[in-house]
Amino acid sequence: MKAAGITGPGVVEVLEQPRPVASGDLVVVQILVAPMCTEFKRRKDGAEELALGHESVGVVVDAGDSRRVRVGDRVAVMPHYGCGVCFLCTSGDYMHCPDQRDVLAETGQEYGVGSYAQYVLKPDWLVERIPDDISLLHGAMACCGFGPTFGALERMHVDATDTLLVSGCGPVGLGAVVQGVTRNARVLAIETHPYRAQLALDLGAERVFNPLEEDVPALVHEATYGRGADAGIETSGAPTGPSALARSLRARGRLSIVAWAGDVVFPPLVPHGLDIFGVWHWNSLTSSHEMWEMIRRAGPLIDTLITHTLPLDAVAAAMDIQDTGACGKVMLLPHEVDEAVISAPVR
Ligand SMILES: [Zn+2]
Ligand SMILES: [Zn+2]
Repeated sequence: MKAAGITGPGVVEVLEQPRPVASGDLVVVQILVAPMCTEFKRRKDGAEELALGHESVGVVVDAGDSRRVRVGDRVAVMPHYGCGVCFLCTSGDYMHCPDQRDVLAETGQEYGVGSYAQYVLKPDWLVERIPDDISLLHGAMACCGFGPTFGALERMHVDATDTLLVSGCGPVGLGAVVQGVTRNARVLAIETHPYRAQLALDLGAERVFNPLEEDVPALVHEATYGRGADAGIETSGAPTGPSALARSLRARGRLSIVAWAGDVVFPPLVPHGLDIFGVWHWNSLTSSHEMWEMIRRAGPLIDTLITHTLPLDAVAAAMDIQDTGACGKVMLLPHEVDEAVISAPVR
């Protein structure tokens, strides 16, 4: 099968790799959409990495011995390979499982855990069936397009009475904008890149502040009648992001850190009594109904959030686009199939 890998500094190539084979509870999914995440940053680093990507949706083509999924099921593939038995896995918080399975070593296979590829091997309990009325492209939001910020919005109980402040309008932050708008919250955002600031506005953010030119906490307090935003999500990864966000929130507000960065620096927390959450992803065991409902209601905005769709063979060009920052969510298509298979619901 075809699979993309980083073979040297600045070099990503599509290579021929062995196609994975189902075994026990490990099923094989034919990947029809592979959303791109932060892999482009590692191309710059240049360390060889032949299994790229952790986001995919597609169709089960070999169900092994699974009793949970069948051949032909349209599924969203969840990240990681949690052990499936610890308290974190059995409560749906498998992202944090300290005992990840090495499914290649287990089955004696060479390849099959990356998503920039035509097929992926996955434990059956980590593939989520996509409802028939949702297209694969929209279903792909259950990966990082919506996943991390869906988890944050759920944990902060953001609703229509809230002003939500989103720090950083890359694909993850833009996913937060879409979901905040879909929850009927008032959404404000922070972003320096003009393309992304405009995209946030197109997706329903009321205002986008530029921290290089503006005093964001002062402007947020002004926009909220002196109160401050009720909830904030930090997706920028900028060292000053968490602090600027905390200063923009009201006392007893809620703040989620979604971006991966180094140590997080905050102003004194006690005076404002903030609730702070570290959020990696969403809980697909407890919240899949809510995720699919969010995707249904956000429908047209998702089409705006997805700015580029390219074949897997164009992975280098796709990463070039990500390097510029002038994009929302970028999707790779590992197989040539009829467009309706990707962008239309089954019924
Ligand atoms: Zn576990
Ligand atoms: Zn991701």
